[in-house]
Amino acid sequence: MTQSKIKIYFLGTSGSTFTGRDFPPCIYVEGFLFDCPAQCPQKLAERGLLGSLHTVLLTHLHMDHSLGIYDLAWHLGTVMSERRLRLYLPADGRETVSQGFKVLGGALSGKLLGFFEIIEVGDGFVDNGIKAVATQHSVPAVGYRLDIGDVSICYTGDTAPSEKVIEAFSGCSVLIHDSTYPPGYEELAVRDGHSTPRQAAEVARLAKAQLLVLVHLPYARLGDRVGEEFLRTAKEIFPKVVVPEPGYVLELGGASWR
Ligand SMILES: [Zn+2]
Ligand SMILES: [Zn+2]
Repeated sequence: MTQSKIKIYFLGTSGSTFTGRDFPPCIYVEGFLFDCPAQCPQKLAERGLLGSLHTVLLTHLHMDHSLGIYDLAWHLGTVMSERRLRLYLPADGRETVSQGFKVLGGALSGKLLGFFEIIEVGDGFVDNGIKAVATQHSVPAVGYRLDIGDVSICYTGDTAPSEKVIEAFSGCSVLIHDSTYPPGYEELAVRDGHSTPRQAAEVARLAKAQLLVLVHLPYARLGDRVGEEFLRTAKEIFPKVVVPEPGYVLELGGASWR
């Protein structure tokens, strides 16, 4: 029996801000979306994925990960959609997002917020194949493990290397990890709640992941070519690493990656 392949779309992959060719993490798989920066809804529409989106998993509310939810609701309102999306976010995020809609939506805020069923999650949350783990960042943040069939896709969002993450993401088919700081800046990365490619690779090794994907790279500060150095240094520690180009589609079949 042949299994249908699971496709992971790395629509945005850059760290903290956009460049001419990329924008912060916006990763779509099977109707689920990991993080939703400002550019994300339009890019989903461009790739024909917006119609099948049913769940948004926000790791935290920093604007490079969350601003797109306002645009998404505005879009659904404008096209008079009757859809309702599930919106997972870290505990206490509901109030912040409600305030955001009040400021940005004015009299329409109630209607806009109504496009989302908000689910607050904390460390250890489990529901319908979705698991959350607290990460180490400068604001409350979670990473998500998504189990689809026999494939598990794990996304850290912004985080320093974390024992808890290693445990929760043990045996992942694909580990998508923060890689914001260049090699040699490990201490600074931890202080700021981020990771270097070496640290991400060490997490992948300890978690026994099958594949590591580095995202949130500092292209805006260090240029588009920095990915080559990140890939090389990560591979010194963990052999199977991808630094995705924006728009890259990773296909998974069964328990192994291709
Ligand atoms: Zn970020
Ligand atoms: Zn952040």
